Parts: sequence; C-alpha cells; structure tokens
Amino acid sequence: MKTILLIGMPGCGKTSYGKRAARELDFEFIDSDCLIEESEGMSIADIFRISGEPYFRDLETKTLELILKETKRSKDGRGLIVSLGGGIVEREENVRIMRDTGLVILIDRDPDQIIGDVKFGDKRPLLSEPAKLWELYDRRIALYRNAAHRILKNEGDYMNTLELLMTNICLEGIAGRFAVIGDPIAHSFSPALHKAIFQKIGIADTYRAVRVKAQNLAAATTALRAGDAAGINVTIPHKFRIAAYLDDVKGDAKISGAVNTVVHKDGMLIGYNTDMEGLKQALRRHGRSYTGSNVTVLGAGGAASGIVHKAAADGAKRISILCRTPEKGAEIAASARTVFRRAENDASCPEPEIAVVECDLSVVDPGIAQGIGSVGGENASEILRYTDLLINATPLGMHGVNAKFAGVDFVNLISRDAFVCDLIYNPSETALLAAAARRNMDRCNGLEMLIFQGILADELFLGITTDRNELFAYVIDQFM
Ligand code: NAP
Repeated sequence: MKTILLIGMPGCGKTSYGKRAARELDFEFIDSDCLIEESEGMSIADIFRISGEPYFRDLETKTLELILKETKRSKDGRGLIVSLGGGIVEREENVRIMRDTGLVILIDRDPDQIIGDVKFGDKRPLLSEPAKLWELYDRRIALYRNAAHRILKNEGDYMNTLELLMTNICLEGIAGRFAVIGDPIAHSFSPALHKAIFQKIGIADTYRAVRVKAQNLAAATTALRAGDAAGINVTIPHKFRIAAYLDDVKGDAKISGAVNTVVHKDGMLIGYNTDMEGLKQALRRHGRSYTGSNVTVLGAGGAASGIVHKAAADGAKRISILCRTPEKGAEIAASARTVFRRAENDASCPEPEIAVVECDLSVVDPGIAQGIGSVGGENASEILRYTDLLINATPLGMHGVNAKFAGVDFVNLISRDAFVCDLIYNPSETALLAAAARRNMDRCNGLEMLIFQGILADELFLGITTDRNELFAYVIDQFM
C-alpha cells in the first residue's frame, strides 16, 4: 500500500486536501483524530480534559503504529492518505513511525491566514487567538519541517495547493509510475491510450492525467526527480518550456526544441520527442514518407516546427509553410536549414527548399486568396498544386475551438494522388478531411500519430522495443 501522511497546523487544510486528493485518485482517506475519537467514544477536547495530553499522545502513537502495520501488511492494495493531528510531531517516536510509513507532506500555512479562514469555535478557544496560534506555530514549525519529506506552502489558493499536492503524489510515482502533464488536461486521451498499450504488453501500472499550470512546472519536475515514476508525457503548454528543467534532451527533441516525453532514470530526466516519429510512422502505414515529397504544412506552431525539421532531415524535396504569422514560419525555416546543414547530410539527401507563405486560414481560403504575401516568392495556390503531403498543424476545426477554416475548397487544387493529414483527432473527420474524402483522397486524422507517439514513449519509458504495427492494430481497435 502506498501511503501519504499529511501534517501541519490545525486549519492548514490537510483534511480537506487529503479527502479531495483521495477522491480524485481513488485512494482511501483516514483522519487520525477521527479514528481516535471513534475508538475513545469522545471528542479530542474531552480526551484532553478528562485524561490529559500525555494520554492523547499515546493514543496518537498507537494509531500511527496501526496505520504503519496496515501499510506493511497490504503491499499492493489501494493507496492511502492520512491526515494527522497538528501535534503529532511533538513526539520524536511519532516522527520516526511516520517517516517509516510513507511520504510525509507538510502543508505549511501562515497562522494569520488560518485565523482569517477557520472558525475553531468553543471546542478550541486557544486557537482562536492570533497570538496563541503564532506561538504554537513558532514552536512547531521546526518540528514539522524536520518530519516532512516534502513541504507544500498553502498561500490561500485552494486549487493551486491541491494541484501541488496531486503533482507530488502523481509525479513521485505514488499513484502509478506514469502520467501526462498539461493544462488543460481533463479530457486527455493519453490515460486510455497507455492503458490499452500496457494491457497488450502485459504491464500492470497506472497512467494518470495531472493538471500542471505553467507556474507549477518547476515543482512538477522536482517531484518527478524525487520519486519512483518511470516518466511523463508532456503536452500543451509545456512542450517547449520543460527542456529548461531537464538534464538532457535527445533526438527530435534536440532538433525541434519540443519535448513530449521525459524519461526518469538513475536520477536523471531526459527529454525526447516522439510526436514527429509518431507522425512518420502513421504516414508510413499509408505508404507515404517525406523523402522526395513536396510537403505543405499549415501552421507555424510547435507541431509544425517538428514536422518541418523532420521532413527536412528525411529528405523532403520542398517544404512550404502556410501560416498566419510569417515571422514564425521564417524562424522555423531558418532553424530547419541550420539543423540540416549541421547534420552534414550526404549528397543523396539535398537540402530542401523551404517556402513561407502568409495566410490567415480562418479569413481566407488559400486556394482562392489573392495577393498573399510570400517570403518564398510564391502564392499558396501554386504551392498546393504540387503538394504531395498536406498536413494541418493548426487547431482549426478542432472540437472546442471556435475558429474554423474560411473554406476548404483549396483541397480541390491538390492532386488526387496526394495525401491529407489532419493532426486533429476530435472530431475524427474534420472539415479538411471531409473535403479530402469527397475527392477520394487518401487521408488520416491525428489519432494514428497519437497512438504511435504513445507506443514510442512507452518503449522509452520501459526500455523495450515492441512490434509497433501489431500494437497499433490492437490499440486502434479499442478506440474505433
Ligand atoms: P501551437 O503551437 O499552438 O500552434 C498552432 C499554430 O496554428 C500556430 O502557428 C497558429 O498561428 C496556427 N493558427 C491558428 N489559427 C490559425 C489561422 N487562422 N490561420 C493560420 N494559422 C493559424 O499548437 P501545436 O502544438 O503546434 O498543435 C497544433 C495542432 O496539432 C493542434 O490541433 C493539436 O491538437 C495538434 N496536435 C496533434 C498531435 C497528435 O498526436 N495527433 C500532436 C501534437 C499536436 P500563430 O502562430 O499565428 O498563432
């Protein structure tokens, strides 16, 4: 059993955070004071009044010993979160038992905030006086810090403290060894995807979706480094920023700067990018590759950048970036050229031409647009006519996104033999793919890329190689 012990001053929030986290993780929750009150048949205040503090502290020690015994007995059971009484740290013996039982987390809250928020009422009159509460805090804070494996500062933002607690529990591997972090994350497809992959390869472990706001990214990587988690996947908005917190980045992550997979091994955090190889594998399933192709990418964000770099490295003949912000497109083109030259590719893989065309796709259909400015000197309709691979790397057409393509008639300019890929997978058929379907063109949505990037990430996490196509067939069957 994996156990979290929450400590801190009365009113620091440990019971309400513990209950909420337990509910979200499907862990069991215990409030040690409630256990004692139940076993004694009276309130803590009455135990103090009738039998005195030493008697109560003995009860606390016995309760802790019971929890420790239970934790050791049931090794693989459901996780447990325990909220402990504020004075539990006053006995050295208790601290030793707590640290033997599980991960001890201090929720540290300023007494002035506690006074402003918590009504202790008649049951605990001493705690209602600010001076007394400060005195207690000053006496105990060193004991709390000494007992805790981790310290979470509760600044009064309930949701943020809860997020930090969940981050610690999940990224330290206490609630499963795998997770995806991002914001938003609630509707992530990754837990279901990895569950299916784990099922097929016979891994019994949990993969969680953990919301991590940008301000908590550093805390998230610290938690990952501290625990036993095998690794995490990373999604919007952290793919670029996370590299700063890692020990190294490799392969496509080094080339594109975007990290979607972090492997935790031997205390090191290594960043990888499996998105781009995932897309390549998806294209391969359809008999397509970048090599020798005219590739047109819509958008100039993170995904587009990865595609352009990968297509250049794989010997695309020509790459065109149709984007709203041409400066971003030009930056990607310059970087892809630099990386290509640095790689000292041989003559069999000549440097691709890379063109950038300015086009706000929700305002104009590039096929009929007039006078589009082009850094590369061409307009979009010319480019579309010789496109072999068209890849949409914008969110236009995605479920929950208001912006749409102004029109998709531009698909009619592309050869029927070309391939259309939309990185979006919800809905499964976007307006762009529907237009390709009307012309009977070969096409795919983003689900295939998503599945392959997941398989590749799991290979990295587990240090194994798999039969990717067999796994893909199994997984896609679960979701179609
Ligand atoms: P991102 O970094 O936010 O980039 C989005 C790009 O779309 C930006 O360059 C943006 O232009 C451009 N864009 C938005 N509206 C536009 C418009 N009206 N006209 C022209 N360009 C427009 O996002 P990302 O991470 O690259 O992701 C892009 C898409 O790929 C998303 O739909 C995402 O869900 C999908 N994706 C799928 C997978 C998968 O596994 N299937 C993996 C990664 C991404 P500005 O630069 O001007 O803002």
